[in-house]
Amino acid sequence: MNNFLPFALPLIGEDEITEVVDTLRSGWLTTGKKTVQFENDFAEFVGASHALAVNSATSGLHLALEAVGVGAGDKVITTTYTFTATAEVIRYLGADPILIDIEPDTFNMNPEKLRQAIAENDNIKAIMPVHFAGQSCDMDEILAIAKEHDLKVIEDAAHALPTTWKGTTIGSISDITVYSFYVTKTIATGEGGMITTENKEYRDRMKTMRLHGINRDVFDRYTSDKPSWFYEVVEPGYKYNMTDVAASIGIHQLKQANAFQQRREWIAQQFNEAFADLPMTTPYVARPDDTHAWHLYVLQLDLGKMTVNRDKFIELMAQENIGTSVHFIPLHLQPYWRDRYNYQPEDYPVALDVFNRAMSLPIYPKMTDDDVQNVIKAVKKVSKEVLK
Ligand SMILES: *Cc1c(COP(=O)(O)O)cnc(C)c1O
Repeated sequence: MNNFLPFALPLIGEDEITEVVDTLRSGWLTTGKKTVQFENDFAEFVGASHALAVNSATSGLHLALEAVGVGAGDKVITTTYTFTATAEVIRYLGADPILIDIEPDTFNMNPEKLRQAIAENDNIKAIMPVHFAGQSCDMDEILAIAKEHDLKVIEDAAHALPTTWKGTTIGSISDITVYSFYVTKTIATGEGGMITTENKEYRDRMKTMRLHGINRDVFDRYTSDKPSWFYEVVEPGYKYNMTDVAASIGIHQLKQANAFQQRREWIAQQFNEAFADLPMTTPYVARPDDTHAWHLYVLQLDLGKMTVNRDKFIELMAQENIGTSVHFIPLHLQPYWRDRYNYQPEDYPVALDVFNRAMSLPIYPKMTDDDVQNVIKAVKKVSKEVLK
């Protein structure tokens, strides 16, 4: 094998290219009818009442927390095993995250730890479950706990398109759900995100705050009966709207979301079979009636049986021309979070152990069958080399 296989690549086809060109020729580049179409298509796809397109999942999570009323002095519960975006938006609003540990198999929020954190803290406003790798959190437990304690639930579904929980597609079961279309995610618009909710008040608030706290977005201004120059500012809002250029890509990516998922699931199955006898744990597999988005494929190396650590294993994979990554460096090990809240590495033993042993393999629809076989060969070869 001569060419390096990158850890992640988007799959962009002629339909996306034609739609972007059409948008560029139209002269309407910012939020307009393509964005509205993408929102409508998306709401239908996940079965949500309302969808709002934004320029990133980070923006969407910020808008969501603001809409449910999180503010200075409040606390929001999420896990340490996530990307910093999940927690940073809590700080944007002057609130503090309460980080909890994960389940050792799914790497998702541990409901028992959630109960414990609620018992130990005051001023908790919301819970932010992260559907790690595209495997749904235990939403029955999380929603029941939220109801019991009158807390809002905002799902970080950056990995979870499409994901189901007991047969229902993620996107309509909690207060607000937020998706990412960052270039490495399950569908990509370069940068972009989507918010879904069943709650019209939240939707209206987020729509206003998405564009400067103005009560009508640009497109509405040019198409409704009020004079085009008229608008009212009701809050100091943000600049989080999606462009029609990005939406043009999203419309056609969304059409392939199920096909992309099926290809990733097939790759995961090849990996699971190939690695069953190697010194490593293969990822959690969703129950048969549920969909796992397979955004990530995270192996846990059995370091006790190896002469090298995870970092060295990754180096050896790179020498075999396979790009890999690590998801995630737990937040409590990151300087900002560690220093602000005085975290010790052992405060979250499950997350720490998973992190030390975790290696993410390439899993994306642009991979050919040969690419998949090359990843398998590399993992087998390196495993053999490092076996004690
Ligand atoms: C990628 C990611 C985000 C942020 O997504 P952006 O669209 O890049 O803002 C948030 N949470 C998780 C878990 C992610 O992986």
